[in-house]
Amino acid sequence: MQGYVALTFDDGPTESTPALLQALTTAGVRATMFNLGTRAEELPHLVTAEVEAGMWLGNHSTTHRHLSLLSEHELLRELDSTQQSLRRISGRTPSLFRPPFGDADDRIRFAAARMGLIEVLWTVDSRDWDGAGPEEIVRASDDLEPGGILLLHDGPVATVEAVPRLVARLRERGLHPGRIAFTAREIPAMGRYFHAAATA
Ligand SMILES: [Zn+2]
Repeated sequence: MQGYVALTFDDGPTESTPALLQALTTAGVRATMFNLGTRAEELPHLVTAEVEAGMWLGNHSTTHRHLSLLSEHELLRELDSTQQSLRRISGRTPSLFRPPFGDADDRIRFAAARMGLIEVLWTVDSRDWDGAGPEEIVRASDDLEPGGILLLHDGPVATVEAVPRLVARLRERGLHPGRIAFTAREIPAMGRYFHAAATA
């Protein structure tokens, strides 16, 4: 098996971000960081550090609410405010969007698309948000196939600890961490589809 997979880290930046970036750069890989607007505003130097470490920035909304419950106005604010924060801090405009809790529907996807954002769910959940230890996180990655996207978080200590073995394990399987791009293919997730995959 040969191909690309995407490592994605949600909910940052946090006080764990420096250790996470250190682990990723030591392992020689790049990942996609789905940042929250509020945390980016609180810790802008860590957003800058992510970019300087070669990571890609994604939009994970501003305050991490269930977007399907929001009014149109609130929804647009959740997306746009984070776009503006990340653009102002990093000088880059994110093109990727991950809805909190994977809670998205057509309305949310179209609102994101109008802002030039591709909705990105995941093909494998590491369950690091649910107390998975480093070994469980590494084992979860065995379910990744070429083009797949792994859900991880910026925060859990176990996630940082898992990175070296996770990357080594992927390499053994011929899988290289890459960026995320639009695909016309329908990628099944959570009972529906999204259109994004890992690539070079
Ligand atoms: Zn999240």
